[in-house]
Amino acid sequence: MSNSTHSDPALIHGAVRLKPGREKKIRSFYPWVQREEVSGVTGDPTSGALVKLESAAGELLGIATYDKSSRFTARLLSRDDVPIDGVFFERKLREALALRDPEGWRTNAFRALFAEADGVPGLIVDCYANHLAVQIRTLAMELLKPVWLPVLQEVLQAESIYERSEMAGRKEESLEPKTGPLWGETPDIVEIEEAGLRFLVPIKGGLKTGFYIDQRDNRRKLGERVRPNQKVLDLFCYTGAFSAVASRAGAQVLGVDILPETADLARRNLKLNGLEGTIETANAFEYLESAEPGAWDWILLDPPAIAKARDKRDSLKWAVWKLVFNALPALKPGGRLLVCSCSYQMGLTELGETARLAANDRGCKLIVEDVSVQPPDHPYLLQFPESLYLKCLWLRKCG
Ligand code: SAH
Repeated sequence: MSNSTHSDPALIHGAVRLKPGREKKIRSFYPWVQREEVSGVTGDPTSGALVKLESAAGELLGIATYDKSSRFTARLLSRDDVPIDGVFFERKLREALALRDPEGWRTNAFRALFAEADGVPGLIVDCYANHLAVQIRTLAMELLKPVWLPVLQEVLQAESIYERSEMAGRKEESLEPKTGPLWGETPDIVEIEEAGLRFLVPIKGGLKTGFYIDQRDNRRKLGERVRPNQKVLDLFCYTGAFSAVASRAGAQVLGVDILPETADLARRNLKLNGLEGTIETANAFEYLESAEPGAWDWILLDPPAIAKARDKRDSLKWAVWKLVFNALPALKPGGRLLVCSCSYQMGLTELGETARLAANDRGCKLIVEDVSVQPPDHPYLLQFPESLYLKCLWLRKCG
């Protein structure tokens, strides 16, 4: 370990005291403190500072990050009163890595840190073959950059680190979107491997941090379930990762994405693996409206989040209803539908209800063959329901 991980700890600038009873959830691993749960703040901390978090009785609950303009006044960083320095971040990172199994997943692309669910509120780190992409959501993590950045470099042996902080949530924290190099030089395209397939990942300009690492388990499942010569329609295909897996299994694949450059990337990925398949640039909603009835063994529906905020919930439900409603007639009898929601705003229950309503409107019976969530490198902390965002239903059309 070099000196960088022994950098001076960030200073504690005051204390946030909770209202009576509010300490319970913090003691039960929930990391967020809302404004209305605070009874007082001492020491006049500025936003982005570290503070002590105290119960109404004055007991220390831990060290938290502070933001007076955020809906979340404090976010718990450590339950113990330890210095927030390189050693602290190295411990967090090593704990997170111990939960992950890239060798078992046969990949060099994985999420090394998933913010609150890995005990580092506001910090996401994705690894793509030693090139890292980070997303910072809070001012405190922004200010702590000099403390955690050297730890990422060393522990993950980073060749480069690139910032992709464009998530909608930054606005709520009064932060502007930010992208750019943090260390070294990130190539425009980085090649990664997953379960024997190679993919080109545009870390600097792609969606999310370049690749949907979080669909890894679903890709594996699809590969195991698709049979040779089945017809697979991969809507919202992005890099064509589902298409590639289905094609390798011997299926006839059509991927559809609305962005020409994305469709092009999907074609390049198929080619890179010597796989057959067609990729079209089209609007998935329109494509389904005119799809040939009974043509497909599989239809994969993995739309973008659509609803990042609560007020967009109805449009998300409407979009999913429409997709399922139009996908059902395009499936063969006994055909299968994978429908995903990557928005926290549409939970598993709503996803099921929406699919059920669409199926009812079509007079079609649907069997749930499987339910899946995000993979273990995007931990779903049960005590922090907000950490569950990806839910998928594997449905079978029966009649
Ligand atoms: N299934 C992909 C990830 C999907 S991300 C994977 O596993 O990698 C969502 C994709 O939907 C993006 O590539 C985006 O360009 C595309 N998209 C958004 N709106 C669309 C629309 N109306 N029709 C088709 N594609 C759309």
